[in-house]
Amino acid sequence: MTSGRNNTAARGRQAWHDANCADCARLSDFLAEVKRARPDYMCKPVPPFGARRAELLVVGLAPGLRGANATGRPFTGDHAGILLYRMLHRFGFASAPHSRARDDGLRLRNCRVTNAVKCLPPGNKPLGAEVANCSRYLAAELAEPHLKLVLALGGVAHRAVLRALGLKLSAYPFAHAARHELGNGLALFDSYHCSRYNTNTRRLTEEMFARVFAQVAARLKKAGAA
Ligand code: SF4
Repeated sequence: MTSGRNNTAARGRQAWHDANCADCARLSDFLAEVKRARPDYMCKPVPPFGARRAELLVVGLAPGLRGANATGRPFTGDHAGILLYRMLHRFGFASAPHSRARDDGLRLRNCRVTNAVKCLPPGNKPLGAEVANCSRYLAAELAEPHLKLVLALGGVAHRAVLRALGLKLSAYPFAHAARHELGNGLALFDSYHCSRYNTNTRRLTEEMFARVFAQVAARLKKAGAA
């Protein structure tokens, strides 16, 4: 099956992000409610972090309440980001092993981090319609011609990537450490999400996550040498 990336790219350069998007009424209302309670939190759609020309795109689920929703950078300020940025640094994709704030000077190398849903959902659970609404931003990122590998953190992100590319979900089942060839030089690798729940229960250990990142780094190195 051929990646839908060409179709997406053919539509021209679409916006990755709109700081004022309010297409999901439930999420916009929730952001306003959280902002009233926590005026110091950003409470806006969270933009991707990293370079436009990156070959690696890491896709998470959605901003966390005290993490990306507060700080304005994906996976920054909450537990999930601790392991993710440590791993990005270990494998050469980040200039430092932690992401603390938007102005902390951290730089990503050949990598970008984003979420399938750009606004904080109640209970960390976006509705299917909200994932679908936000798909156009993800599709715009996936259409970037430099992109070679997408690392999906969790099944929701995995399916959001496939839907944004117009691919059949049943042809690419999610599994931890699965690798899928999507065509047009684009690969999709899977990992369990690095959430506190998954790491506390040891569904995802640091070693398991490192093995996925080793495969990611090896794949990009091989692609670069080809
Ligand atoms: S989740 Fe996406 S589509 Fe929905 S309001 Fe936020 S930015 Fe807009």
